[in-house]
Amino acid sequence: MAARRIDGKAAAQAIRERVALGVAEFQRLTGRAPGLATVLVGEDPASAVYVRSKNRATAEAGMVSFAHNLPDTTSEDELLQLVIDLNADAEVDGILVQLPLPKQIDATRVIETIDPGKDVDGFHPVNAGRLASGLPSMVPCTPYGCLHLLKQELGDLAGLEAVVVGRSNIVGKPIAQLLLAEHCTVTIAHSRTRDLPAVVRRGDIVVAAVGRAQMIRGDWIKPGATVIDVGINRVPADEGKGRLVGDVAFDEAAEVAAAITPVPGGVGPMTIAMLLRNTLVAAHRRAGLEDPEGL
Ligand code: NAP
Repeated sequence: MAARRIDGKAAAQAIRERVALGVAEFQRLTGRAPGLATVLVGEDPASAVYVRSKNRATAEAGMVSFAHNLPDTTSEDELLQLVIDLNADAEVDGILVQLPLPKQIDATRVIETIDPGKDVDGFHPVNAGRLASGLPSMVPCTPYGCLHLLKQELGDLAGLEAVVVGRSNIVGKPIAQLLLAEHCTVTIAHSRTRDLPAVVRRGDIVVAAVGRAQMIRGDWIKPGATVIDVGINRVPADEGKGRLVGDVAFDEAAEVAAAITPVPGGVGPMTIAMLLRNTLVAAHRRAGLEDPEGL
């Protein structure tokens, strides 16, 4: 393997330590700790694991965690009412509604009901629009984590060719906006892109957010590129439990790239770190304070 392995765990830990210091300072200034409300509807095992680790990380950072676990049968109106109550709750700085939601609930309506100032996932159209307009906003956690890793790895990104594979609202589009704001020349590829290997080969930076196991092959990667693999895919393994792989064929790409994130241990840990960061930022803004420095 020629490529450097980008250590997302270590980067995430460093952010979490800085957030914890920021939380202590916020508490000194305002007399209270920032609060994050998580809402889990139903019993999807993966979602339950994510939400539990978010609640644990919130408490470890010194923040208050309000966990709302609702049954699978919850109606849209009941969930909207909970969001309205959380919007009005002075102790709650951030609201995270775990997706996906059960079929009877329209996720778009729920996201649009969250106060944009408390939208620590950054999915509200107001935040998406502000990000696209270059205004202060809540930036979605996973893309923000990707950007942090890229800046840590490469420093100034200006002028670099960046290829983002995937155009979802939660990863592809916001990372493309963030890279554009860093003065990259950005291409967004998707399922209708013609000759995807040739497009990916243009990238000094490749961000893969597709959801297809090891789809991006080593010979698609420009020599010396930096590869950020957002994909999380479970594939069969010998012991029957399966193992996690990314959207990039790691071993092949690592022969060609300058640096690459592993799966797991790359982008994944950054998502929770950035959620904590966003909650601290939301608390500062709600309290009329400047954004915390260095985060
Ligand atoms: P998504 O909403 O399903 O979007 C996937 C995107 O990939 C779509 O834009 C789709 O194109 C594109 N695509 C699908 N097949 C393709 C192909 N053959 N060639 C080119 N593009 C193709 O997924 P997502 O929510 O963005 O998530 C992407 C991956 O990241 C998943 O594996 C997910 O588990 C992972 N993820 C990880 C984290 C983390 O914390 N690390 C967070 C979020 C997501 P169209 O638009 O044309 O359909």
